Formats: sequence, structure tokens, C-alpha cells
Amino acid sequence: MSATMLKVLVIHPSDDLIKSVTIVNSQNKKAGPFDFALFIGDVFTKDHINLDELEPDIPIYFTQAKDESINLSKLHSNFTYLGDIGIYQLHNGLKIGFVGDCTKKYPEEDIIKVFKDQTLDIVLSKLWPDAIAKEEKLLLSADQRLDVILDSKPQYWFACGNGKGLYFKREPYSIDGRVTNFISLAEMGSGRFWYALSISKTPKVVSEPVGKRPIADSGSSKRPLDGSTNSNSKKKSQQMNTPFEVLPESCFLCLSNPNFELHMVVAVAKTCFISITKGPLPTRSKDGFSGHGMIVPIEHFPTLRALVYSKDSNGKVQESDVYLELHQIQLSLVAMFRSLGNNSTVFWEISRKRSVHAHLQFLPVPDSLISAFQKTLDSQIEYMKRLGSESIEYIKFSQNDDLDELYETINSQDYVLFTIYEKNTVTKYLIKLGTDENKFFDAQFPRKVIAVLLDLKNRIHWSKCKQTRDVESAEKAAFKSAYEKFDIMRQQ
Ligand SMILES: [Zn+2]
Repeated sequence: MSATMLKVLVIHPSDDLIKSVTIVNSQNKKAGPFDFALFIGDVFTKDHINLDELEPDIPIYFTQAKDESINLSKLHSNFTYLGDIGIYQLHNGLKIGFVGDCTKKYPEEDIIKVFKDQTLDIVLSKLWPDAIAKEEKLLLSADQRLDVILDSKPQYWFACGNGKGLYFKREPYSIDGRVTNFISLAEMGSGRFWYALSISKTPKVVSEPVGKRPIADSGSSKRPLDGSTNSNSKKKSQQMNTPFEVLPESCFLCLSNPNFELHMVVAVAKTCFISITKGPLPTRSKDGFSGHGMIVPIEHFPTLRALVYSKDSNGKVQESDVYLELHQIQLSLVAMFRSLGNNSTVFWEISRKRSVHAHLQFLPVPDSLISAFQKTLDSQIEYMKRLGSESIEYIKFSQNDDLDELYETINSQDYVLFTIYEKNTVTKYLIKLGTDENKFFDAQFPRKVIAVLLDLKNRIHWSKCKQTRDVESAEKAAFKSAYEKFDIMRQQ
């Protein structure tokens, strides 16, 4: 017998509350009905809001009213202000814990007092718990005192982070058989701002541990979060972490890895370096190198957005130093391949949160073949579909198209992006992969497309194209001498 499921819509609204309420009402009609909605973050920040115009069709619970002068009694009866910090039990039995952006007003003891020994269904907080922010290197978005709430084992924890918030979904994890989903939402207009879920008052208990549990800094939360009195549980979860993490010391794209293959590096810029690849798709051309290479951000992050947000949680990937330099390097490579013959250049990036170290690959493609790129991409998508894979869709951006949707994507979700530089045009093909990091995507797909385009199907698997260290060194040297006069560092 399945327990009754409740449907909930969570929104991180912007100042435009009318729009947020309109979205709740329209989603309730389209995708609902929802039992209730939750507003997280700074709700009611503008004093000129005409409260009469806010008419939600379903109950909306919110934690924060930054404009303290707001007359809550004038609000539509479907609004419920939860308060600064506390626990609220709904009629249906669900327990919601909430902590607004007010933690500085309260000592840690107060937070502990409220949440100690509680088992909650949903937690709403403005900031992230430090234990999770640390994993993502987003300390500005966090408050260490929230770590104590991890122990209340909520089924869902919604937070915003700093400023305009940030969309992020952590790998679910379990404590004592209860699974927690931690989800951070960006403010409406700044990224993904909504989340819909079904929740039961009596969630399934898992018998095997799920995911890796966030580890609270023992210096801050003196109590072990699960009530145990020794550090065994911490040790255990650290051990569980090991298979999921590749540290810079052992990452094959990190310069700090003692085994890093320096003989592959063509050039180093301020934030990125260029290297040739292992097992290049084409063999060496008359110029002495295949041209198949990588542009790699120096810092160890799985995606560009993780790298950018680590410095500024409100940052935009497309405005970051690393992105601008990546772009400059792309142009320099395009110019170099063009100088070597009638070559277009293809760049591709697989950006996935579960990746180890972000990078872009590139390859020159003769002008005579590049015009077949889209047809080849279409045929490979069709081929994958026939093999039973989930169908892939792409969005094409031609030279003068608006790139808003591209930027929205690279700032908020996993994706694959091909960028084709032909003689006079630039075309981009974006495949959105969403935010489910466990969703399957064949990481060899871009290479397969280019292999078919170049009629190199026998070289699809890179491991079968491995070269000796001497050949790699020779290829790097040839690449380096061709690239020297295009090197962006020389031109500065
Ligand atoms: Zn790395």
C-alpha cells in the first residue's frame, strides 16, 4: 500500500511577486493540482507591492519577509508567514523546519534548541549548511550553524545561497535510513528557480546507505549529527567518499598531480592550458601533429560553472575570466588551423557535474567536410535512437542568434556544446542534459560524431589510438611551434 503522496511546488521568487504567484497558479492548473507551495529566500522585499493583487489558488508558506513593515494581515488568506526560525506542522502532518536569513540574530544554541532531536520532512533555509557548501567550495553561501539541522534528516532541504541564489542539486544521501535531497534554487530570473516534488509523510526507509553524507566540521558542531558519541560514523562516511572523489593530486588534468604528463602541454595561459590529447582521433598530418587537443582550466573543478561559482556565487560563467580566456584561446587556435590550410575548427565540451576536471576538446576539420557536420550529427542521433538510447535534441545557434538560452544553460545544468568555426561563420549546437547527474549520456558521443564526419570510424575508441610517449612529445613539439605566433600570452 502506498502512502499518500503530497505534491509540492517550491519557488525562489524575485521581487516580482505577482509573477511568482501567477506561476504558482498556472503550474497548479497545468502540472498540479499541488497541495501547497513554498516560497524560499527574500519574499516581500518591495514595499510598493499591491498586496490585493496577490491571489494564490493554493496555500503558500514563506519564511522571510525582508520588508518588515509589510502588513501580513493584508495578505491573501492562502499566504502563511512561518517566521524567522522554527518548526511548523501542516494539517497533513508534514513537518517543515525553517531558518530565514536571520541566523546572525540568533546564537547557535537557539538553533540547536529548535532542531535538536527533531525529525523533519522539509527544511527551508536562506543559506546552505556549511557541510554542503564546503563540498562545493561555496563558503559565502553558507552558515556553519545550520549544520546541526542535517541531523533532523529532512526528506527535502531547500536553500538559496548568497545573493540571488544558485541552482544546485546535491547527490541524495541517507542518515539512519532516511534519504535527504538537498536542493538550492536561484532567484527567479537568475537560473532555475522552481522545483516540484511529491512527498509522503511516511517515506520509505532504505536498508543500504545512499550517497555520501555531508560531513559537518567537528569544530563547529560539537555534537555528532547522528547522536553517536564517537567519530566512527564520520570515519565511515569518509571512507564511503573515497570512490567518488578524484583529488587534484591524482587528477590527470591537474598540473599539481605529480604524475601529470607535462610533455603533452602546448601552452599555458593565465587560467587555462592547451594540451594534445591521448589517443587522438586523426593521425598526424603533414604538419607533424593531428591537431586534436584540449583546452583545460588550470583549477580543478568538474564544470566551468562550479569553478566560477567557487569565486562568486552570483557570477556568470560567460563573464568570468576563465570563460573569456577560453574564448580567446579558441580564436587563436582557429587562426592557427586556418593558417595551416583550408581548415575549420570544431570544439566540443561535455559539461557534467559528475565529471572530474572540466575541459574542451578541439580538432581541425577540412572545410570540404565541415558542411556535413549537422547532417552527421543528425544521423548519429538517429542511430543512437535506433539502438534504444533516449533521443537527443539540440538547439542550434547561428552566428547572430541571441545566446541567452545558451548562457542560461551553461550556468545552470549539464550540457554538451559543439562550436564550429568555419571560414566566415560560427555555429553552436547545444544539447541540454539537465540536472540529473545520474542520467546516462554516452561521453564518447561527440567523438563518434566527428569520427563519422572524418570517416575515421576505426578510431572511435581513443584507447585504441594511444601513442608512445616519444610520438606524443614529437606531436606536442610540432603543435607548439605552429602555435607560437598565435599564442595569446605572446600577444599580451
Ligand atoms: Zn584536476
